[in-house]
Amino acid sequence: MATEALKESDSDPRVRRARVSELEVVRHHFDRAWDSLGLKEDARQIFWEPYREISVQIPIKLSDGEMHVFHGFRIQHNGARGPYKGGMRFHPEVDVDEVRALASMMTWKTAVAGIPFGGAKGGVNVDTRGLKEHELEGIARALMDKIAKLVGPNRDIPAPDIGTNAQTMAWLMDEFGKLNGHTPAVVTGKPISLEGSYGREAATGRGCVVMFEEAAQKLGMDPAETTFMVQGFGNVGSWIARIMQGLGAKMVAVADQDGAIRSEAGIDADRLVEHVHVHGGKLTEFSEAEEIDGGDFYEVPCDVFFPAALGGMVHEDNACVFNFKVMVEGANNPTTFAADQILADNGVYVVPDLIANAGGVVVSYFEWVQNLQHFRWEEDAVNDMLRGVMTRTFGEVSARAEKDGKSLREAAFEIGIDRVVEASRTRGYFS
Ligand code: GLU
Repeated sequence: MATEALKESDSDPRVRRARVSELEVVRHHFDRAWDSLGLKEDARQIFWEPYREISVQIPIKLSDGEMHVFHGFRIQHNGARGPYKGGMRFHPEVDVDEVRALASMMTWKTAVAGIPFGGAKGGVNVDTRGLKEHELEGIARALMDKIAKLVGPNRDIPAPDIGTNAQTMAWLMDEFGKLNGHTPAVVTGKPISLEGSYGREAATGRGCVVMFEEAAQKLGMDPAETTFMVQGFGNVGSWIARIMQGLGAKMVAVADQDGAIRSEAGIDADRLVEHVHVHGGKLTEFSEAEEIDGGDFYEVPCDVFFPAALGGMVHEDNACVFNFKVMVEGANNPTTFAADQILADNGVYVVPDLIANAGGVVVSYFEWVQNLQHFRWEEDAVNDMLRGVMTRTFGEVSARAEKDGKSLREAAFEIGIDRVVEASRTRGYFS
């Protein structure tokens, strides 16, 4: 959720972001998995910290006539399994530690999903709201100019994340092309008109829903009979809402940076998308639902909760009031370790970010493969392949979790780390 909204709500501890940083959360999960795998102590640091960190200055004159100096990052965490891969985030709260955390998550995410990439992340600490299109374009192009030598189809492949979209990727691709010739495979998540892949825009949300279907099968739930709520109504949240609705499920509450709404009768996802994304309306002004307090959102009873906003939104001050059975993490790092424990103690079935939101990068992989061949698959083929990767990943992670009596999160980290360590060792990086 946006900084402003959270600051205003500081009085309600349920609504603020976590006090613990995302980097601490990721390192906590990493260390626990490293210890439990019994890996050698001297190699831990290789995977604990990123391989390379690029930090650049982006000075740009905005339409207020003033120079603004933004900070851009590209952090390449680990490339043992393939080219670095991960999104570019444009958000005012982007800082080096957040990007470090997100970059390492990409390393483990691509490994658990079994796609041949390493992990990276980038971003700019800019508030995109209120910026003109040409200002955003200037920032994207300046960023690419400054990192161009260190990215490329076989080096590092950026993609969309919070605050960026297919248009941003088109600018990044075009800028890279000025220096290197037309190279669509340098970024994924591009528009369809520029060799983007069918199915990429909805892929993260679709993957989350596939993960929910897998969990539902295990828990004996019927997706058509379920109620759900979504936090964040950007790309991921809005696609989760539409695809869940397509299964017959009912959305009973939604929250974003402007506030929260609820309706026991159900909120129509398509009409909400129309209101927010097509007409640029505020979520809280949607006439077919009741506005509720941002803190009360967390107490709405439902079957499934999809956090799909920023990291650190699920913490010890709100996890104890939750009223749902399953949580599928569409966002990266939404849950602190304290909250994870509370949810486990309350018997909530958590499908962790590492596998739940992998759909985006999985279809990015398909886009990259198509670009390298200048070929295109139909949307049904992409969606079928996505489902195949997601169900295989869920199967492998849940089998390990059940065998070892661990959470899906612990099992996912262990599988990811195991695979990256194995690739590094085989390359001869350490013995
Ligand atoms: N930003 C997305 C993520 O966090 C997608 C990354 C990608 O497609 O490379 O997984």
